[in-house]
Amino acid sequence: MNESDNSVPAALGDDVSIGNLTVRYGDTTALRGAHLRIPAGTTTALVGESGSGKSTLALAASRLLPADAQIVSGSVRVGDTDLAALSGPRLREARGGVAAYLAQDASVALNPVLRVGSQIAEVHQVRHGVSRREAARLAENNLADVGIPDPARVARRYPHQLSGGMRQRAVIAIALAFRPRLLIADEPTTALDVTVQADILALIVRLQKQCGLTVLWITHDMSVVAEIADRVAVMYGGRIVEQADALELFESPAHPYTQALLGCFRQGRTAQPKHIVTAIKGSPPVGGVPDGCPFHPRCPHADDSHCRTTLPEPRVLGGGRQAACHHLEFAP
Ligand code: SF4
Repeated sequence: MNESDNSVPAALGDDVSIGNLTVRYGDTTALRGAHLRIPAGTTTALVGESGSGKSTLALAASRLLPADAQIVSGSVRVGDTDLAALSGPRLREARGGVAAYLAQDASVALNPVLRVGSQIAEVHQVRHGVSRREAARLAENNLADVGIPDPARVARRYPHQLSGGMRQRAVIAIALAFRPRLLIADEPTTALDVTVQADILALIVRLQKQCGLTVLWITHDMSVVAEIADRVAVMYGGRIVEQADALELFESPAHPYTQALLGCFRQGRTAQPKHIVTAIKGSPPVGGVPDGCPFHPRCPHADDSHCRTTLPEPRVLGGGRQAACHHLEFAP
């Protein structure tokens, strides 16, 4: 990468603070008052079973929710910008520029009838006001930054002419062209072969460190979390039930659900969805959550006096750790 080309400027990341974020799809509440803090220039992994609300949080934070979803309340602050409060042209500008979203499937993020280089160059022209010629040059630099050999040749290709790994690299190049302050990666490696997954993981980690990006990484895979995360947030039933520094969380999980998740990981060295569901007794809530703590039907510590009647609020445990449970005395 040539620093003077400014294709990947340093220190992009900003502090992120999500407060009381609630999202509904029609009558169904998918996200219930989520609170999350991501320090600038760090990676937070968001984990939990399918249907826990991870992708809804990711889409709400990047303001890419589908038309039938609505942010009912809350804020998504990236630096001094509240993404949840934006609309119209300011929102269009913030999409990509403030928060960029990497989807699981790169092919849906690329325009199939435009050459890859043109799609990146368009960002430089429209967002940064550079000439067409300069935008084409910067696009090739972006492709080189994401480890694509012979970027001039690849820039002239259409998405269908690239492999899955190359397409995901091209999507990352587009995200970098926006110069985002927050990168939201929604399981960006799950659709790829294992060896390509490792390459893409290493690429994003390198870029995160190089650019000081703030990253929110959604995943099912606790081995990925162990590899990349500075902090971890655990979701269940549309709420964040625990968040802590990664090392602390792996060593001494406070919430019974986190303890169960890590139990699956330690038994199988992987916590893919099917393993989680079979290893934790019962099923995650679908369509609605029970009264009280959403985890109570599956929790070995649930009681009638608190857990089945009263929703536990997040409690600050010190050292930047929070957990939402009535019985944190069960924490190790
Ligand atoms: Fe279990 Fe009760 Fe804590 Fe919920 S509040 S996780 S049911 S102990």
